[in-house]
Amino acid sequence: MSRPRREAAMTQTLQRDLFGLDEPPEPPVAGLFADVVFDRPLDHAFTYAVGDDLAATIAVGKRVRAPFGRGDRTTIGYCVRLNETPPTRPVKELTAVLDDEALLDDHLMRLTRWMADYYLCGWGQVLNAVVPAGARDKAGTRLRMFIEAVADKEPPEHLPAKQAAVLQYLREVHHPVELRELTRRVRCGPGPIEALASKGLVRRITRRMDRFIDTGEEAGEPDGPITLNEDQRRVWAQLEPALHGGFQAFLLHGVTGSGKTEIYLRAIEEVVRQGKEALVLVPEISLTPQTIARFQGRCGETAVMHSHLGDAERGGHWRRVASGQVQVVVGARSAVFAPARKLGLIVIDEEHESTFKQESTPRYHARDVAVMRARLENIPILLGSATPSLESWHNAQRGQYTLLTLPQRVMERPLPPVTLIDRRHETPRKGRFPALSAGLEHAMRDALREGGQVILMLNRRGFSTHIHCPSCGHIESCRFCDLGLTYHKQRDIMLCHYCGYEEAPPKNCQLCGQAAVRYHGLGTEKLQAEIEELFPNYVVRRMDSDTMRRPGSHGRTLAAFREGLIHILMGTQMIAKGLDFPNVTLVGVVNADVGLHVPDFRAAERTFQLLSQVAGRAGRGPRGGRVIVQTLTPEHPCIALAAAHDYAGFTAAELIHRRAHNYPPYQRMARVIVRSHDQQAAGAFADRLAAAFAETLQKLAEKGPAEVRLLGPAEAPVFRLKGYFRYHFQLQSPSAATLHQVLRAVLPMQRPPTGVEFTLDVDPFNML
Ligand code: ADP
Ligand code: ZN
Repeated sequence: MSRPRREAAMTQTLQRDLFGLDEPPEPPVAGLFADVVFDRPLDHAFTYAVGDDLAATIAVGKRVRAPFGRGDRTTIGYCVRLNETPPTRPVKELTAVLDDEALLDDHLMRLTRWMADYYLCGWGQVLNAVVPAGARDKAGTRLRMFIEAVADKEPPEHLPAKQAAVLQYLREVHHPVELRELTRRVRCGPGPIEALASKGLVRRITRRMDRFIDTGEEAGEPDGPITLNEDQRRVWAQLEPALHGGFQAFLLHGVTGSGKTEIYLRAIEEVVRQGKEALVLVPEISLTPQTIARFQGRCGETAVMHSHLGDAERGGHWRRVASGQVQVVVGARSAVFAPARKLGLIVIDEEHESTFKQESTPRYHARDVAVMRARLENIPILLGSATPSLESWHNAQRGQYTLLTLPQRVMERPLPPVTLIDRRHETPRKGRFPALSAGLEHAMRDALREGGQVILMLNRRGFSTHIHCPSCGHIESCRFCDLGLTYHKQRDIMLCHYCGYEEAPPKNCQLCGQAAVRYHGLGTEKLQAEIEELFPNYVVRRMDSDTMRRPGSHGRTLAAFREGLIHILMGTQMIAKGLDFPNVTLVGVVNADVGLHVPDFRAAERTFQLLSQVAGRAGRGPRGGRVIVQTLTPEHPCIALAAAHDYAGFTAAELIHRRAHNYPPYQRMARVIVRSHDQQAAGAFADRLAAAFAETLQKLAEKGPAEVRLLGPAEAPVFRLKGYFRYHFQLQSPSAATLHQVLRAVLPMQRPPTGVEFTLDVDPFNML
């Protein structure tokens, strides 16, 4: 039998097997047909017949149950298209329609379709990641009781003392206060409040709240009226006309403390006034009660979406937003899919943050998805940062985004002076190098003596960052990764920061048996111990992912810092961002070089951003402030220019470098990682995949000058991770379209052997 005929015969047998029939079924002649996608990496939809019983309820954007794959297992999928043209092949029938209302409207369907195309994954995978598991459940969000003074109603002369106190408190704060908070403040039970309510002097309001939000005083304090300064007025004049509709992307570059948030708030107020809704994306870490309160206080009904929410809560928010009960959605990355039906504006704060990139399928970047959403919905989008990503800066320079600038801090406050302390030439004190140089220690003493507060950053958690044997040089490393273990003293374990593997610290070297392992390197835990020893009379708190495990602990620590109960707040980059504490007069960076020497082309950009952000925490109040940065490479442009607050200088230098090496933003990049527990199998498949790309590139080159470059394959910088051996290669092209054309030509044909997996990352952020 010739090859095609044999294949045709095989297909027929296969079909008979699949349908369990002796006779092949006939294609249908008429009826309603639904195209359905499943949570699989497949780029096509499957057509099903819609029975009469389901015809009335089926709709695009609803979930369905359908027989799928081998054995026709009932599987949940999404209906993505309906049509009445009969397919040319026999089809199976839908089993059930799961939703009363479509979960996604037309815009979100188009957005997710675009994501599947752009990130080269299944549309079903995208939909599954976008819709929260609890979206269909009927579980609600929590209702909370608020009390508000009734305006213009004069109280009788002799109110009982407690009632008078409640009333006075409510009139002073001018806004509704949560019942629990009110009883705590005034130190009373519910009795006096009940009495006031029955006299018509106060009224009760129920509000849906997020369990996570601690409605302490932070959530209550509304900003006083703010008069825009001259720079803000100029920015507003450029922005305001665009808020009436039409796609336009703005990049707001404003130094730390320049009043960017005030611009966001005005813009949101304006679109809400027009009866539309706004979406605000912030990095997860910025979802502090302080940030949330600013939006809640000003912008109407707000939903907050972050990763600590359970399925039911996420689902509850989803339904509330979809039903138009919410004016403003504030959330981290995945809030970009909030099902607002009347969206009028998207704001992205700290647009440069890498947490907007999702590191699992679909590997999307929320900023880029948001820009696409704004385009599809034909609305304005505002990206803001003190240190815009080079991608966004480049877009502003070539006119894709409109640049808005706030070059000065508000109230004519200067940016804090930054002093670099070069630790290369330091001599040891008492035989060792302390975490703090004499200069930083003195500056801390001065700041504290004058009643200021100190923020101290060390971007490395744990106690000792490496453990080694002085006799044979063996370094304790993870059993599953090519990475050293970090000693965590409090828990007395050695921990892998990549895979979470932990092990008891050894008494003897595990290689040579020598009984003298040494602990080296400085992590936040050790730093805390040193600081507490140096400053016994001050309260020190550490903020890193070890101390901030419980939901709410982050907010509680910040509240205590605001109240002055903590003098020195130290921690990882968690403390570098977004915080606005006017009494911080000194910021210290213990080791500026931590992230600089990793094999990632964005290392300098990230270091610059982090230093600028943390420096921005100093001197935000009338007392001013300063910054001290300890480093071993003071001459590195990202450190020297961050110290000079010279964003333009840094980007100019860095862009020259990026262009010379064909890196983003000049070139688009896709990264392929092949991994397996079997090193050889991984290597062999990586070679095969790369060869397939090389062949396609060769064909492309025959038609014209090669626009796509292939780099690799090679061992990934962290070769073994979580027990997998990893090979990677990169594709680079000045044209996103050409890059996608190549990816699409090659990838669908590739099936890795059993035990080998590959992932594709379009616009990768993680280069390890
Ligand atoms: P950014 O987001 O740029 O870091 P913020 O918007 O947080 O800056 O503003 C910093 C502080 O300045 C906030 O406390 C804010 O209320 C205040 N602020 C903003 N604009 C003005 C203004 N025009 N006049 C006075 N204070 C302002
Ligand atoms: Zn590990």
